[in-house]
Amino acid sequence: MTIGIIGSGAMGAGIAQVVAVAGHEVFLLDQSAAALKKATTGIATALRKLAEKGKMPTEAAEAAIIRVRPTSDMQDFAGCGLVLEAIVEELSVKQQVFKQVEMVVSADCILASNTSSLSIASIAAACQRPERFIGIHFFNPAPLMALVEVIPAVQTREGLAEEMRALVQSWGKLPVLCKDTPGFIVNRVARPFYGEAIRLLEEGMADMATIDWAMTELGGFRMGPFALMDFIGHDVNYRVTESVFTAFFFDPRFKPSFTQKRLFEAGYYGRKSGRGFYSYA
Ligand code: NAD
Repeated sequence: MTIGIIGSGAMGAGIAQVVAVAGHEVFLLDQSAAALKKATTGIATALRKLAEKGKMPTEAAEAAIIRVRPTSDMQDFAGCGLVLEAIVEELSVKQQVFKQVEMVVSADCILASNTSSLSIASIAAACQRPERFIGIHFFNPAPLMALVEVIPAVQTREGLAEEMRALVQSWGKLPVLCKDTPGFIVNRVARPFYGEAIRLLEEGMADMATIDWAMTELGGFRMGPFALMDFIGHDVNYRVTESVFTAFFFDPRFKPSFTQKRLFEAGYYGRKSGRGFYSYA
């Protein structure tokens, strides 16, 4: 099956790598030529590194690299069996993109979103055939993180969630079925992790490095909350927090912080922009 991926940023590039290694032909589409170039170069570098380390045969790495075809033309999706979107976390933009996708793909092509926080039902609602729509939510970095949330919407046809669960498993991932509730499982549990860490900082209880150290060295987390937010990107992470807060009818448990909002407004997105809570210059 050929897979179309829209958005070649952190997530789209990682997902393209995963499905190409699993043997699928991939059309990777982005509106930014620079993002596409960065993604294809990054995938090639990552796979060649794996081959050098003996983690996959060189021929398999080279074959997977060739299977990822960058494009700016959605017509290339005409023969796809699955189109998965990983673009900016904004409902109207995602809805618009799927309207365009449906004009190109066949009636039985499955449509999926990698959204972290928007309701799958609300994106599906913009589609002519919402019954073929589903959430397939990877974690960052997609090639390394085993967990994938599979989220049927109320409109999703019976059986599709199970089909996608099996497909995701065939990619070597560990899928978990979730209900279509804000943040699904992981991003809901993660909101207080980030939010309380920022509140601790704002209250002057401890500095960022100490909180990160406590959570990694003592708490057993792989990354502390500030390093992790910088890694995810404040553009993505702040929007997800705002979206979960709104979706829970402004429940104060999920309230965003001004500290992170200011980073977002300033364009201090974290690692990707060279500055976030920490500086990466
Ligand atoms: P990103 O900013 O790294 O990449 C988004 C890409 O989409 C960019 O290259 C941009 O040029 C492209 N794009 C935007 N609008 C487009 C359009 N209309 N058509 C074509 N391309 C378009 O973002 P990301 O971190 O990869 O996140 C993408 C999605 O995945 C979001 O919905 C986010 O919530 C979700 N997500 C992010 C993470 C994470 O940790 N970053 C984890 C899981 C899910």
